[in-house]
Amino acid sequence: MVHDYQIIYEKLYRYYGPQGWWPAKTAFEMMIGAILVQNTSWRNVEKALSNLKPFLSPAKIEKLSFDELAELIRPSGFFKMKAQRIKAFMEWLKAYEYDLSQIKMKDCNELRDELLAVKGIGSETADVILLYAFDQPVFVADAYARRIFFRLGINLPKSYDSFRLEVERALPRDLAMFNEFHALLVEHAKEHCKKAPICDGCPLASICDRRLG
Ligand code: SF4
Repeated sequence: MVHDYQIIYEKLYRYYGPQGWWPAKTAFEMMIGAILVQNTSWRNVEKALSNLKPFLSPAKIEKLSFDELAELIRPSGFFKMKAQRIKAFMEWLKAYEYDLSQIKMKDCNELRDELLAVKGIGSETADVILLYAFDQPVFVADAYARRIFFRLGINLPKSYDSFRLEVERALPRDLAMFNEFHALLVEHAKEHCKKAPICDGCPLASICDRRLG
């Protein structure tokens, strides 16, 4: 079956509707959430963010000691490692005097390289930050997207970046669309295309090879 990323996107959008991601009040909260969500569920992140609520600004987080920060984010799991990652990320932000508008003006690829150079920020975390905090139209080539596209019958490049670039090249540079596409794929992986897929009623059923494995 021939697949078109735009058609996949449109089918998901029609079925699930706008997702309005990321679930955060500020870009700073979004970025902290993106680090906290590594290897855990969003429910655990919400508990950690609730503890962090009085400190959710760069100036306040910076004043927290490592132990204070780790204790507050304990519900997110791997809390010492994540406290180290947040501290490293804060160092990077500080180099810009916490001025997100200054960071937004940078070239997207340069910005990705800088984020990837921060200890504990991998490709997926870098791309969600680029997309949801810095308004860059990038595709988050995560495991959910890989699972769904593979099952549809698309032969995907193995590496994260080749996969990301393939989708980005096939679509217009539309920030709102990339914003929704990632959220829709996550929703679809949770509602229908789970580990054990529920194909009955799936909005992609008519274009899916149902290639499992
Ligand atoms: S038809 Fe089944 S395998 Fe294909 S996308 Fe839908 S849930 Fe996944």
